Amino acid sequence: MSEYRPVTERLRDYRPVETRPTEMALRQELNRCQDCGIPFCHALGCPLYNLIPEINLEAKSGRWASALGRLLETSPFPEFTGRICPALCEGSCVQGLHEHPVPARLVELEVIERGFELGLVKRAIKSRHLDLSVGVIGAGPAGLAAAYRLSRAGAEVTVYEKDAKAGGFLRYGIPDFKLEKEVIDRRLELMMAEGVKFLCGVEAGLDISERLLWKRHQVLILTIGARRKRDLPIPGRNLIGVSFATDYLAAQNRVNAGEEATIPPDLNAFGRKVVVIGGGDTGSDCVGTAWRQGAVEVSQYEIMPKPPKERALDNPWPQWPRVLRTSSSHEEGGFRRWGVNTLEFTADPKSPERLNGLKAVEVEWLIENGRLIKPVPVPGSEFTKDADLVLLAMGFTGPEPGSLAAAKELKPDHHGRLSPNLYVAGDAASGPSLVVRAISDGLKVAGTVLADFKASKS
Ligand SMILES: Cc1cc2nc3c(=O)[nH]c(=O)nc-3n(C[C@H](O)[C@H](O)[C@H](O)COP(=O)(O)OP(=O)(O)OC[C@H]3O[C@@H](n4cnc5c(N)ncnc54)[C@H](O)[C@@H]3O)c2cc1C
Repeated sequence: MSEYRPVTERLRDYRPVETRPTEMALRQELNRCQDCGIPFCHALGCPLYNLIPEINLEAKSGRWASALGRLLETSPFPEFTGRICPALCEGSCVQGLHEHPVPARLVELEVIERGFELGLVKRAIKSRHLDLSVGVIGAGPAGLAAAYRLSRAGAEVTVYEKDAKAGGFLRYGIPDFKLEKEVIDRRLELMMAEGVKFLCGVEAGLDISERLLWKRHQVLILTIGARRKRDLPIPGRNLIGVSFATDYLAAQNRVNAGEEATIPPDLNAFGRKVVVIGGGDTGSDCVGTAWRQGAVEVSQYEIMPKPPKERALDNPWPQWPRVLRTSSSHEEGGFRRWGVNTLEFTADPKSPERLNGLKAVEVEWLIENGRLIKPVPVPGSEFTKDADLVLLAMGFTGPEPGSLAAAKELKPDHHGRLSPNLYVAGDAASGPSLVVRAISDGLKVAGTVLADFKASKS
């Protein structure tokens, strides 16, 4: 039931696309919640185990403070997930069997935003102090969640972040039209008021040595993300005009935030024909950003087959539905193609260091035992496409090989332990995933740290 601002209006700015539902519309939706005996939304769908039926019940009766209390029992940052979570919970809502699911994400957003408006979201007063100093490396959602829980439990927490500001991909990946950055700043202020220290512009392992980190802290948690970008090493890859999607998105977010005055010319879609390679969230974010920058044409190519409109037989409820999704950016225009493999980037004859297009081929997937094994080119389907900007949005292969020696071998146990007093959480531990999973993982690793600390004292 998401409502968006009209396309013509929203393409003129980077402000949030989604609008808040009216109280009446929300109540109508809340009336559809069945308060199921076995709430799959809570138990199977949500990685945070949000108490969705209970929250819905309170919100339906307008008991916002009580709904907020229920929400904050499990979710430290509902203002993030309420905006950008794909809402795994909704995939397992019983109402989704026949019509659209109860919009749990929008309810969550309404509850937390009303909480802020009513002054109900306050900093926690520390009631105890543990003799425990923790260094969290990386201020993405996983690091923020770990810091939040440990600080509230009484630990001294310092978060080291190599970027200029905290937030990870929340700040320098996800566009402002999905998540406005004031929302992150509001949360950081609360955390700082609770005593969490943030040292930004500090790369652990480079600007501060691991030896010094161990001197300062008894425990280190690596929440450095999975940021090694998957490349496309085909002829022409080094041409000017072929760039990584996350560099492109970060550049626009930095300009919006006033951190940079202009977008580097090679990362600007103004007046250009853009091809985005990769059909996921990052690719879709590039589509919306390219239109706002003034692209003349935007296409998105995905190598995997087009997903079905409805659940396939091997994807029954209450599993997450692997179906075709159309984001707000896709609604803004452009061409989407599936089953396309890009073979070569071609150079502009007048300026041979510059991109002027690409060659690609359609593929069909070889399937064995119901699994897609490999793409097979369709004979005679080769085609060319004019392009002056290609954005590679093909995912990530793991943590960046960086200055942190400890990050080279990230093979944690089930609780996120790498070695005594060294832990890992979020995308760095599990591979590229979702904000809600990173938050859940950060909370869990903080729980392990606290349990290990208690055990060491007994
Ligand atoms: C463009 C884009 C759009 C996305 N959209 C969505 C979405 O709509 N919904 C959703 O759920 N998920 C989305 N995701 C995925 C989501 O953002 C990630 O899964 C999530 O941010 C992972 O959190 P994290 O804390 O593990 O890592 P990150 O967010 O990657 O944070 C890691 C942090 O560690 C810092 N760091 C790394 N090394 C060091 C070091 N040595 N010293 C100090 N700091 C260091 C980095 O600078 C970074 O700030 C998107 C991802 C991208 C790239």
